[in-house]
Amino acid sequence: MSQVDTSWVEIDREALAANARAFLGLCGAGTRLLAVVKANAYGHGLVESAKVFLQAGASWLGVNSLLEARTLREAGLRAPIYIMGHVLPETFPELVTLGDCRLVVYRRDVLEALSREAVKAGRPPVPVHLKLETGNNRQGVGPEEALGLAAAAKALPGVVLEGISSHYADIEDTTDHSFARQQLAAFIETDRVMRDAELGAPIRHFSNSAAAMLWPETRFELIRPGISLYGMWPSKETYVSALVHGVRPLNLRPALTWKARIAQVKTVPAGQFVGYGRSFRTTHDSRIAVLPVGYYEGYDRSLGNSAGVLVEGRFAPVRGRVCMNMVMVDVTDIPEAREGGVAVLLGESRGPDGGVQRISAENLAEWAGTINYEVTTRINEQIPRVFL
Ligand SMILES: *Cc1c(COP(=O)(O)O)cnc(C)c1O
Repeated sequence: MSQVDTSWVEIDREALAANARAFLGLCGAGTRLLAVVKANAYGHGLVESAKVFLQAGASWLGVNSLLEARTLREAGLRAPIYIMGHVLPETFPELVTLGDCRLVVYRRDVLEALSREAVKAGRPPVPVHLKLETGNNRQGVGPEEALGLAAAAKALPGVVLEGISSHYADIEDTTDHSFARQQLAAFIETDRVMRDAELGAPIRHFSNSAAAMLWPETRFELIRPGISLYGMWPSKETYVSALVHGVRPLNLRPALTWKARIAQVKTVPAGQFVGYGRSFRTTHDSRIAVLPVGYYEGYDRSLGNSAGVLVEGRFAPVRGRVCMNMVMVDVTDIPEAREGGVAVLLGESRGPDGGVQRISAENLAEWAGTINYEVTTRINEQIPRVFL
């Protein structure tokens, strides 16, 4: 509970740790856990979440950007960091000096620039991981180019070929995993060709949350889960796939609760409009609560007239459009709703009768026409994260 913030996010530390331990339980002796903490740890708070995962036994941290890597180092975290996103060669001096950061590579010129910078700085070689194209057509190079890049990485000073990786295109959106199987086969084949040419890399990694949970054969030396470390299933399809394939679903615990203080409660007579565009009209005398959260804070505009929040353990539907920094909800049937009270936008709320209601990231995603990933990552970073 925050005394001075109009809106805040509470994170259940133990839930994050339990989720990390669940993934560690999937790792055999030769497999380590890289905790993906990009996007402000999927909205949960980068530094604190990273600390919890490391304490629970994660070996590496995965980020998108140099900025995120810098933030972790400035907070005193010393674990190996894998940077998965695009880093501009202009910023390699910093990458090299941050220490123990490794970079995904898929371009020869970038690899050469990194080599030059590491040599110039007189630092230990920077580990690099080749990204293999296996069907996602995002970052990555095909088998031919991979051999050339691997050879360059082995020959150049200042860099060392530490890993090869790829990323599934279609594993959480379907229960039909034939395409993902093809990707895995392509990865294994390229790895074999590289090893035969003595251009292999010691660490192979391919698994996001869904793959790590469903397929032991894709865990290799390192798994890279993100979403499920935060207690969310990548999708319904992933859960169904686990059941269909006889995999016991992990006991994932959602960790995030988003709360806001009720700014005003007002009586609105029947026939009045609520909010911009007059998109909602009361059919009866109503009590409307104003909440200090809008689309700037990450409460998506598409939630207007479709979502709801919890007040005192009961559901209060959103009325009218979501504004930039405010949203109105209907508390007509919640007499306990009062100014200064707490509304739960995401998470659990307990009523006066002890009953608990829950709004999940999946509920919000469905109302907004998106996915749970987007719901939590877009909660504005300026909103305080309170670790409990
Ligand atoms: C985001 C990301 C992950 C984590 O994926 P989840 O579906 O959140 O588990 C793993 N690998 C890469 C390259 C990513 O970009």
